[in-house]
Order: sequence, then structure tokens, then C-alpha cells
Amino acid sequence: MAELTRRAGPDAATVTRRWLVLTAELVARHAEELTALDAAIGDGDHGINLKRGFAVVVERLGQADGVETDTATVILRAAGQALVGTVGGAAGPLYGTLLLELAGGLEGATTLEPEPFGGAFGGAVAAVARRGRSTAGEKTMLDALVPAVGAWQAAAAAGGDLAACADAAHGAAVAGRQATEALVATKGRASYLGERSRGHVDPGASSSALLVGALAGAIAQVGRGEGASR
Ligand code: ADP
Ligand code: MG
Repeated sequence: MAELTRRAGPDAATVTRRWLVLTAELVARHAEELTALDAAIGDGDHGINLKRGFAVVVERLGQADGVETDTATVILRAAGQALVGTVGGAAGPLYGTLLLELAGGLEGATTLEPEPFGGAFGGAVAAVARRGRSTAGEKTMLDALVPAVGAWQAAAAAGGDLAACADAAHGAAVAGRQATEALVATKGRASYLGERSRGHVDPGASSSALLVGALAGAIAQVGRGEGASR
């Protein structure tokens, strides 16, 4: 019958490190596509910038040999600082804000749990919105991130485990990314195009969908017992 005690979630630091490594891999694999999207409605640097930034993140993190000694907060803070320091343009400071704020939100967490992580994720996305003075619907990364947070929190409230929350968030981020095609940009470089920005998927929403996909991937891998040593 019903379990009285919910099983503790995976080690927060292990998932976090795995997430960043997977993000770097995904961004590198999709760099040309992200750059092409940005060439259509921006200046064509999004993929190349993020690829370089996440490569620096992985380099700075180094490898945890066997046992993870850093906390999720320490890992995310280092990653956020690396992004702010190496990625120019709009995306560097915004993704830096996301990771730095998440670092603060996960302070003291040793395991990842659905509701606390949903709260920390929501706080981090709210900080991006403040930093960018933007909201969902303006054809930016927030059009992937805001629905992802909503889906995560709804899945958590319904009693979903971490994998269920992450998969729901990923699905919502991908749908949100796709929906940016029909939107007119009112923030960032693409807003200079006005009506002509319609008909193109937003590059930042695309990279955000990759980021959330990498999170779901990391949670799945750690759940299967993979990735414990990176
Ligand atoms: P830049 O536009 O400076 O060249 P990037 O190409 O790296 O920066 O990133 C562009 C992406 O940043 C956009 O596709 C959009 O998703 C996101 N972005 C730009 N401005 C904002 C903003 N004010 N708030 C949220 N996201 C933004
Ligand atoms: Mg650009």
C-alpha cells in the first residue's frame, strides 16, 4: 500500500555536475543550429558564445574523482561565474543569473527533492526575468523557462518524483521554444526587427530547452546509477 516515507532524492551535487556536463555536450552539438537561429533574428553569435561558455564551465569544474566533494551550490556558483565572465551579449549574464540564483536557492540541499527544487528553479527564473526586465511572451529564453518551471511545480504538487517533474519541465520547455516561432520579439536584439522577427524560433528559448533537457537527462542518468564520478 501507500509508502509512508518517500525515498530520498539523488545527490544534489552529482546531478548538478552531470547536468552542466550534459548541457555543455548538448550546446556543442547544437551550436551551429543556435547560431543559425540567432543569425536570422539577431547577430549570429548565440551558439558559438554558449559553446565556449559551457566549455569553460566544464573546464573550471574539473572532475570529481569518485566521491563528489563540492556542494551543488559551490558547483552552480562556479558555473554561473564562468558564464558571466566568458559569454558576452545578453545570454551570458542571463544564464549566469539563472545559475547563481539557483546556487543560492539550493544552499544546504544535499539531495534533490521535487518541491524544493521547483521552488529554487522558480526563484532562479524569476531572477532572470528581473535581470532582463522581461516576461514570458516576449520571444526570449523565458518562453521556455517559465513554462518549464510551471510544469515542474505542477508535477511536484501532484506527487511526481524528480524524474516525472524533470520530464514534464522538459516537455513544456520544448513546447515553449516551438511557440516562440509565432511571437514578435519585444526584448533583446530580435526586437529591432519588430514584426519581421515573427516566423523564427528564438535562439535563447532553444538553448533553454536544451538546458532543461540536460537536467532531465542528468536526473535519468543518476537515477540509473550513471555519472556518479563526474
Ligand atoms: P545577443 O543578443 O546580445 O547577441 P545572444 O545571442 O547570446 O545575445 O542571446 C540572445 C538571446 O537572449 C535571445 O534569443 C533571447 O532568448 C535572450 N534575451 C535577449 N534579451 C533578453 C531579455 N531582456 N530577457 C530575457 N532573455 C533575453
Ligand atoms: Mg546574438
